[in-house]
Formats: sequence, structure tokens, C-alpha cells
Amino acid sequence: MIYCVEDEKNIRELLIYTLETTGFSARGMANSKELKDALKEELPDLILLDLMLPDISGYTVLKEIRKISEVPVIILSARSAVADQMSGFEKGADDYITKPFGSAELLARIRTSLRHSTRMNTSSDQLFHPYKCGELILDFEKRTLTISGNIVHLTPIEYKILVFLAQNCGKVMTYSSIINNVWGPYAD
Ligand code: CA
Repeated sequence: MIYCVEDEKNIRELLIYTLETTGFSARGMANSKELKDALKEELPDLILLDLMLPDISGYTVLKEIRKISEVPVIILSARSAVADQMSGFEKGADDYITKPFGSAELLARIRTSLRHSTRMNTSSDQLFHPYKCGELILDFEKRTLTISGNIVHLTPIEYKILVFLAQNCGKVMTYSSIINNVWGPYAD
């Protein structure tokens, strides 16, 4: 899940459209209040954050995000000064994209940030924290899937597919990567 925090409706909708047509799940927020509410519901895999928000500066929002999470944040901004980019990184941004940008550049930056964050988080830590998405909870320790508190019975293969997808949440998984990871590299 990728959150797009952008007050300009056209840009926000374009971001969501670009992400969804590429296979990502995306949600838009027009200001920091909407982001705050969304963060209480679900922690995304990445946040695209506009620097010029109507209520408070994107940097203040970034500081707030960093208090609760190390989720990758890519700053979107019309300013291109090098000094601005530096201060974005100092405050904990993972990357910085200057507007206007093309969708190819945007997607490349998103993929790089996601790769970095999974490399850093592939500790046992991640495995033992249940994966939550709305009413769905995948508990890696108990090896159970519950939806609204009800246990869903899965075959071992179904469970493995779900674990693989949950661990790669937000990324596009190819048919062959699923086969390789679930059935092993020698599957036919
Ligand atoms: Ca703006």
C-alpha cells in the first residue's frame, strides 16, 4: 500500500492512477490530518509526500511520521534547490522528486525505496509481527489467517502463497517468482 499525500487533486489522482495501473495499491490524502487518520488504520509500505501542503509543511509531517515509523518516504516538491534536497534527507526522507516528474521516474524511485526498506526489514522481527490489512490478520507465529476474528482454513500451499504475498506487500509479484518461492526452484 502506498499513500499519496498531495493537496492538488489532479496530481493526487494522477499518482494513484499511475500506481494502480502498475499493480500497486494506493490511497490519496489531501492534507496531514487525512494522513494521520489513515496511519492509525494501516501503516503503508511507502509514502509519497508533497512538501507544500495547505495545513502544515511536509517536513513537519515527515518528522511526525518518523516518530512512529521508518516507512520509506519520498518527498514531492516543486522546489529544486540542492539545499532543499539536503534538508529533506536530513529530516529523514528516503528520496526526493522534483515536480514535474514522469511516471517512469516516479516508479523507478518507488521501486528503489521499497527494495531498500525490505532489505533492511527482512529480520526475524518482520516474520513474527502479524500482517494486518483491514479485517484480515495473518499470524506468522500461530500460522493462522483470520478475517474479522474468524479462522480461515488454508491448505499448506495456500498459506505459503499468502505469506509470500504479505511479505512482499505493495510490490508486483510475477507468476514465476510466486512459483519459485512457494513450490521451490525446481517446480515444473
Ligand atoms: Ca501542494
